[in-house]
Amino acid sequence: MSVLTPRISVVIPVYNEAENLADLHRELTASLVSLGQPYEIILVDDGSTDSTLERLLAIEAVDPRVRVLRLRRNFGQTAAFSAGFDHACGEIVITSDGDLQNDPADIPRLVAKLDEGYDMVCGWRKERRDPVSKKIPSWFANRIISAATGVHLHDYGCSLKAMRSEVVKGLRLYGEMHRFIPAVASWMGVTLAEVPVNHRPRTRGRSKYGLGRTVRVLLDLFTVKFLLAYGTRPAHLFGLWGLASGGAGFLILAYLAYIRLFEDTAIAGRPLALLGVLLCVTGLILVATGLLAEILVRIYHESQGKPIYVVKELSPPAVARERERARPGR
Ligand code: UDP
Ligand code: MG
Repeated sequence: MSVLTPRISVVIPVYNEAENLADLHRELTASLVSLGQPYEIILVDDGSTDSTLERLLAIEAVDPRVRVLRLRRNFGQTAAFSAGFDHACGEIVITSDGDLQNDPADIPRLVAKLDEGYDMVCGWRKERRDPVSKKIPSWFANRIISAATGVHLHDYGCSLKAMRSEVVKGLRLYGEMHRFIPAVASWMGVTLAEVPVNHRPRTRGRSKYGLGRTVRVLLDLFTVKFLLAYGTRPAHLFGLWGLASGGAGFLILAYLAYIRLFEDTAIAGRPLALLGVLLCVTGLILVATGLLAEILVRIYHESQGKPIYVVKELSPPAVARERERARPGR
């Protein structure tokens, strides 16, 4: 490997963090130099309106290992991470916040853990230094996300993570899903480890998030859960509920028809009749939605050549055969 090819790419989104950048760069450099492996630092300016960009460019001018990526406007932390991932060259990608709450000195421990053979190592802010108003929602969120996705982690909110590049490159993130990276990646069958990391209070600049984030996290959780469980077979979910609803409606209407025909009882004004019709129509809509979703899934996968599986490795003869087949002129 040439010295110019970084093994480690550190991706950090920054939004109005001007006062933190000099210390961030100093601490990152000290930590990464101590690792003794070629690295790059990708600082993504997420449409900052303070002097962040000028300071980033000043750092880039003196350090060739720093690359600044400037987004046109504030797209949010998830989009900023995605942009950094798209430009990362290293075989290991490290993510972190840029407000110095994560401690760059933890990076070597994450890399060492990853080198034990894991695909992703997540930081766990065991002693979190944030206001209680953040810690309480986060305590619930970690439990709910773990239970819903089946990927049990102590700390979904910690940005400090180390991942193999093949995992990162396969991620497609939307909304505020950077915190669901371990859950999303679990679809690929990644091996996960957790490492307790240092956490520090924010001393400069302001937090970019308020309580509204909790609601957005919950909504994103629905999406992640749905895609993980039914992303390639939506008709199973919609179909099941559709059949249950339609079946219940059918039974109700059959009962009403029976008493009308054979017991000569009036049924016109009965709420049960309304319920039966409602359940039947709902069932029909759910089944139809499932079928439409199946078509969408097929368009999504087949139009982009996306398989519904992920191969870990091919045997050497299979690799040779694939190369042979891909040779131009064949
Ligand atoms: N951030 C960003 N874009 C945004 C919001 C935040 O790039 O729209 C960055 C921010 O600069 C910081 C990191 O994301 O580096 C975490 O943000 P913050 O510290 O405000 O989150 P908190 O620690 O309060 O959860
Ligand atoms: Mg912070």
